[in-house]
Amino acid sequence: MANGEKRSEWVLCRGCGEMVYGRRFAREAKVCPGCGFHAPMGARERIAHLLDDGSVRELDFRVPDADPLEFVDTEPYPERLRRARARTGLDEAVVCARGRIEGHPVIVAVMDFRFFGGSLGAAVGEAITLAAETALRERTPLVMVTASGGARMQEGVISLMQMAKTSQALAQLDEAGILTVTVVTDPTFGGVAASFATLGDVIIAEPGARLGFAGPRVIEQTIREKLPEGFQTAEFLLDHGIVDAIRPRGELRTTLARLLAVATRSARAERPEAEEGPAPVGDPAELPDLDPWTAVRAARRLGRPTTLDYIGMLVHGFVELHGDRRGADCAALVGGLGYLDDIPVVAIGTQKGRTAAELAKRNFGMPTPAGYRKAARLMRLAAKLGLPVVTFIDTAGAYPGLEAERDGQAVAIAENLRLMASLPVPTVAVVTGEGGSGGALALAVANRVLMCANAVYSVISPEGCAAILWQDPQAAPRAAEALRVDARHLLELGVIDGVVPEPPGGADTDHAGAAAAMRRALTATLRELMPMDAMNLVLDRHARFRRFGSASPDTVKPVVKERKPA
Ligand SMILES: [Zn+2]
Repeated sequence: MANGEKRSEWVLCRGCGEMVYGRRFAREAKVCPGCGFHAPMGARERIAHLLDDGSVRELDFRVPDADPLEFVDTEPYPERLRRARARTGLDEAVVCARGRIEGHPVIVAVMDFRFFGGSLGAAVGEAITLAAETALRERTPLVMVTASGGARMQEGVISLMQMAKTSQALAQLDEAGILTVTVVTDPTFGGVAASFATLGDVIIAEPGARLGFAGPRVIEQTIREKLPEGFQTAEFLLDHGIVDAIRPRGELRTTLARLLAVATRSARAERPEAEEGPAPVGDPAELPDLDPWTAVRAARRLGRPTTLDYIGMLVHGFVELHGDRRGADCAALVGGLGYLDDIPVVAIGTQKGRTAAELAKRNFGMPTPAGYRKAARLMRLAAKLGLPVVTFIDTAGAYPGLEAERDGQAVAIAENLRLMASLPVPTVAVVTGEGGSGGALALAVANRVLMCANAVYSVISPEGCAAILWQDPQAAPRAAEALRVDARHLLELGVIDGVVPEPPGGADTDHAGAAAAMRRALTATLRELMPMDAMNLVLDRHARFRRFGSASPDTVKPVVKERKPA
């Protein structure tokens, strides 16, 4: 802190109103040790906090002052600018720099609310755009830390144009496959929120940070109602699918480093010290003749590893991402980025849970449209970054509910089928428990589809089929048999490509053993697919699904060529 030692011995926390010892406050990066309040941070302070010591080089993106409207309110705009500079020591409301985070190169653009409320004038828009263009030219990820009240009124419509300019700069990074991350700090409103701040691939917010288009006062005046407590805060936005994650200031560096490691494939390879599991089985004759109804019951055992269990055991440096960016975050579907051994991946799956409370919270693993849209968002991110996609499927089906239908469940599933068909990256799906109908297939249009030995995959639950065709729910075992829902039959039918062996008592009796077999199956399958280029991956997937029901399934096989080494 710039304040002298004597003056800053004690600091008043704006969160709890308690006095905090100044040095401690500074050491905690301006987070109150009592109540966790995150006090505002200046741009240069923030850069020093986020980037590795000694790595920072500020980028000089100053542009000549412009006063396009020759704006005067109670005083001329140039006079206000001059005073803001004198008061803050900043040229403008953003500072850009290059540097490293835990060794990973990054370009950062950090806003400073003290300067004109972080408003988006032409100089700010220009600096953000130049930062993005530098990231593009150097193929380096861009991290933007936002704090803004919105447009800069003194620059009128030229300020408005900065929203378009910065958004198209970010679109270029999307096209080039360069990771963009936003760190939302309090407050981020208006034109900044409605342009580059929410266009980041990943949006991380500090606890309590508010983000929105319209400010709370404007909303209250318009709707003539008091807004609920916590409206537009990070926590509210996480619940409503707008931000990916909330991280206390002290954890930001680690999370950013993990994201950068995956996006730039620069993590140290971490081969876990785990036993090598058994190889996947590709020949139906090698599988035991399991009674399908026994498989159904085994597949539903609550002790089986869930998607988050598998991710926890197999994917290191995992960062879970949340939300569909449209208004909801479905807890029945989880996903994020991390490393499967030395392979950076996007991992996605349905999540059931085990206790009654968790099952209820996770909607029994039955995704809503928001869940499928979250999956779609993560798959598009994988496509952008060129990362393989691994999906874990254990769901009785897509959630059959009133709201789910109203929100377009059928559309969400259909759009995922189409999206998965065209993904330019290797994709592997594993049915780990129940593979229930369209809700499962919406995550399973993959180059390779695997299944755990005791998993089932079916167009309808045996109970549902029994009720309809036998008109007797008691006929479920017969329906399971008739539907051929078990791994051996599905391997014979070519619906799956391989079976992941389970420990002798089933996956639920030995999670580590189940994970070892899963690791071997996934890494072997991914390594087989990774040499293929985007076109052949799509052709391979197309042929895989084109053949079902075809009169001449062999003629639809494409010629799959390996990519020539560069
Ligand atoms: Zn406090």
